[in-house]
Amino acid sequence: MTKIKSIRTRVWNWTGPTVPPTGNFCTNASDALWMKGDAMASFRFHQWLTCEVETEDGTIGIGNAALAPSVVKKAIDDWYAPLVVGEDPFDYAYIWEKMYRRTHAWGRKGIGMTAISAIDIAIWDLMGKLVGKPVFKLLGGRTKEKIPVYYSKLYAGPVESMQAEAEEAMKNGYTAYKSRFGYGPKDGMQGMRENLKRVEALREVIGYDNDLMLECYMGWNLDYAKRMLPKLAKYEPRWLEEPVIADDVEGYAELNAMNIVPISGGEHEFSIIGCADLIRKKAVSVLQYDTNRVGGITAAQKINAIAEAAQIPVIPHAGQVHNYHLTMANTNCPISEYFPVFDVEVGNELFYYIFEGDPEAVNGFLQLDDDKPGLGIEITDKHLAHFEIVE
Ligand SMILES: [Mg+2]
Repeated sequence: MTKIKSIRTRVWNWTGPTVPPTGNFCTNASDALWMKGDAMASFRFHQWLTCEVETEDGTIGIGNAALAPSVVKKAIDDWYAPLVVGEDPFDYAYIWEKMYRRTHAWGRKGIGMTAISAIDIAIWDLMGKLVGKPVFKLLGGRTKEKIPVYYSKLYAGPVESMQAEAEEAMKNGYTAYKSRFGYGPKDGMQGMRENLKRVEALREVIGYDNDLMLECYMGWNLDYAKRMLPKLAKYEPRWLEEPVIADDVEGYAELNAMNIVPISGGEHEFSIIGCADLIRKKAVSVLQYDTNRVGGITAAQKINAIAEAAQIPVIPHAGQVHNYHLTMANTNCPISEYFPVFDVEVGNELFYYIFEGDPEAVNGFLQLDDDKPGLGIEITDKHLAHFEIVE
């Protein structure tokens, strides 16, 4: 069997045009700092990491990371690559444990687990290519004729422009929409009313036969969320996402136990045990691990089993192809998040400029090819002029 020969990491810095930020487009954890007028700037990331794992026969598997790419690159180059080179990629569970345990003192969460995730995703792509099968066929196969997706954008802004965006999305056949709140605790009662006004305005457009998800991106706190939940109930959100910071697991559990609006989260949680804790404590009604952070596809698949046993649906964070493969292969993953293709704005959409082959949604669904080996994406040179690459 062919062995892993090398790991190549590249940081892609976007230097092309970007849509300028507007005020109060999405709350985030920095809002608590009173960095007036500036908190939104920290929400942007225009940098990405690609991680290519190559075997002796020249086959290349592709993984990626969007969290602190330059630091993750250093972690892979200095620490993880030497642990992985020389191994058989089909020993993926062993390789995962080796990376996890050999760096356990510092690597089990954050940067370390993001590096493990990037390599693990690349190894799954590699295995698929080596056996000529799409990754989802190695994970359990097709559980859905096609994957329903939810439209994930609708950042807070002027009411009319949010309504216009929702109307446009409706024309494209989506039946589920996620919007971001623009105001949090420091904006007081006036900000609460601004938040509620936008939820109401979106319901006016999409009606009550479509799903509406609401995102706080950790920009609220427990007190604020407890006050907001009863006010949001009448708008029947499918879930309220990350109302408090990721470490406040008890806060999630308290809000979820109120049973007013289902609470979702997990995109900033790491590892199998980290996610099992959210499940055991009934902290979330919908688990949204991020495959790029949680430990890659190997960890994600184990978490899927734990969540399924607890009957908590899993909807992985981010509209990326590895998440579609996991969603396709698991009955307990009912729907995928989908970032519509747009000009570079927050950074969520940057992968469309680095890779080609990502499936695009049609009428609210997307499809995976039964015959495309691996994850089905390749690195493209189409937009190279707009990147500065650090190798
Ligand atoms: Mg989120």
